[in-house]
Order: sequence, then structure tokens, then C-alpha cells
Amino acid sequence: MRRHERGLFALALAVILLTGCRIKGPGQIGQVSLAKAEKTEFMMDTLITITAYGPKAEEAVNAAMAEMRRIADLMDANDPKSEVSRINENAGRRPVRVSEETFELLKLARRYSELSGGAFDVTVRPLVVLWGIGKKDKYVPDSAAIERARELVDWRDLVLDEEAKTAYLRRAGMGVDLGGAAKGYAADRARDVLLRYGVRSALIDAGGNIWAVGRRPDGRPWRIGIKNPRPEHGGELLAVMPSEDLTLVTSGDYERYFIKNGVRYHHIFDPRTGRPASQAISATIIGKNSAEADILSTAVFVLGPDQGLALIRKLSSFEAVLVTPEEQIVATGNLEDELEIVREEGGTGDTGR
Ligand code: ADP
Ligand code: MG
Repeated sequence: MRRHERGLFALALAVILLTGCRIKGPGQIGQVSLAKAEKTEFMMDTLITITAYGPKAEEAVNAAMAEMRRIADLMDANDPKSEVSRINENAGRRPVRVSEETFELLKLARRYSELSGGAFDVTVRPLVVLWGIGKKDKYVPDSAAIERARELVDWRDLVLDEEAKTAYLRRAGMGVDLGGAAKGYAADRARDVLLRYGVRSALIDAGGNIWAVGRRPDGRPWRIGIKNPRPEHGGELLAVMPSEDLTLVTSGDYERYFIKNGVRYHHIFDPRTGRPASQAISATIIGKNSAEADILSTAVFVLGPDQGLALIRKLSSFEAVLVTPEEQIVATGNLEDELEIVREEGGTGDTGR
């Protein structure tokens, strides 16, 4: 059948944790029984769950969650007291001194804005505010408003002073937005905290950003499930990525969106058009640094298959899997060989369009 031509991979992807890998009760490493701790909190517009194993699992999870909360507060552009808000309030007026940490993440985000040719743009805030995806009900701005906002998006006008540790936006109305980087960064810091507590086996799930820390308590690699995100496909599990000390980050058009007159409007913008990016359904980045993977998932989503994968190949320390609007899967390297196929093509459920 035509619709199965590309088999399993002709489907949209989303990364989830396999419930089957959630070990109930204490985990085992060799003969040693490990305590398990798990905690879920809502922050950065998503549910965050941290699961850890080890003698200090409970303390570790609490500390890691507190660390994520701290970062979320620091970088929340919607909180008028955050450092990011202070930079934005002072756009076109004066440089603002920020913490070392915010400065470094801004630097990283600015560097990737440049590397991605502006597909990821750390100054995307005016578009985020204008569209208000998830906040304003089915609101499509008029072209003039989109044009005005788009005009204000340009990472080259974010001036970072290394000596003074200040950030300055050259024009009034500009704004930085770390929404495409903060969850990944927070996950990296949470992982550091877990490691400091001696945890060698853990999962951090920050809504599409996953850190598979070490191995499962039974010594085998974590298994990260890849599911079909389109509701009409019922979130079926498609494949599994065996993961040991790996982060997987997905950007998709299916988490925050609305549909009006048959058009899907979502929260990842193409700074070149000022509108939701349309060259991908989802982009998954796999690597060892979640902040960078988070930024890259957004960048690759905007760039689409050709330029997106070219960028990832150039960087060499990440792999990517991208689904095009035609539901074709393209990937870098040997990823398709590593993925374990769960459901054979032509199996139960309609996988066609
Ligand atoms: P999610 O937040 O669903 O994990 P992303 O990691 O792709 O998805 O981040 C999307 C967020 O990044 C948006 O909510 C917005 O704050 C910001 N953003 C949207 N478009 C861009 C862009 N082109 N460049 C940089 N940041 C963006
Ligand atoms: Mg991202």
C-alpha cells in the first residue's frame, strides 16, 4: 500500500518515556537494592518529572527540582521580576547587568542564532507576544502587525558585554526569549545536581526534553519511546531509542497550537516570515548537552530537512531526526539503525494519512 511505502518512519515523532521502563519499587544494580524517588512539578509551561535511584535519591530529586525552579524563575520572560524581563524593559535604553549564568546562556543562544542563520533567534520575543499562542484564543495577527514584530527580531542587536556582564537590546520594543533553551539548560543543571548526590541512574523528563542519566537501575540502557504525536494516530509507540547518558529533545507543532480555517498555528516561529514555521512537524535532537539540543531542536524545526540536517552534520556532536509536513522521516548518521522498531508497518492502527 502506498501509504506504507516509507514504513514506520513515514510518521511524525515525539519522544516519550516508556512506561515499561519505570521500575516499581527499589531498583537493582547487581545485588544492591537502590532506593527510588520521583517528583513531578509544573514549571516552564510544562510538567517536569524527575526519577532517581540511589541511596540519596530523595534528597537528590528534591535538590534537582529546586534547581530547575530557580532557573525557570531566572529566565521567565513573563515574570516582570526576572533577569530576562529586566533586559527587555530596558531595550533601547540601557545595558542591564545579569548573573553569570543568564549571561552564559544568552551567549550560547546568540551564538546559535548566528550559526543557524537566524532560524533560531534569541530575540524572538516580539513574535511570541504578538501571537500569544496558548494565551490568546485562536488569534491570527494582521500582516502589518506581523511585519512590525518581525522587524524587531534580530539577534545582531543583542549586545553582550563580557567584561561588564551586561545585556543590551539596541532598539525599544525588542525582547529576548529563552523559551527555546531554558528547559534544556535547566535539565542539564538538574542532572549535575543528581550526579553531585551520587545518583548514577535517573530520568529527567521536562516536557519533550529528556535526560537519560546513566543506565537503568538494572544496568541496562534506558529506553526512550518515540511515539506518533498526531491525535488521530492515538499516540501509538513506534520505536525505541536505547539511551545511556543521552539527552533527547523534541520540538513539535503539536504541543501548543490552534487550528483555524484548516491552518495549524503553533508556537515555533520562523523569524524570516514572522509566522509559525512550516517546514517540519517535529525535530528531535540527540546528544550530550540538553541546552544546546533544545536550541537546536527549535533551529532544525525552523530550518526544515535540508538546511536543518546540514546544520547538525556540521556540528558533529548531535544527531537529528526530523519529520517533514509530508510525514517523511529524515535523520542524520546511523540513527535509523539504532532505533528499535516496535510496530511493524502495516500493523494494527491506521498509520496512513
Ligand atoms: P517547547 O517549548 O515546546 O519545548 P521549543 O524548544 O521549540 O519547544 O521552544 C519553543 C519556544 O521557543 C517558544 O515558546 C518561544 O518561546 C521560543 N521560540 C519560538 N520560535 C523561536 C525561534 N525561531 N527562535 C528562538 N526561540 C523561539
Ligand atoms: Mg527547543
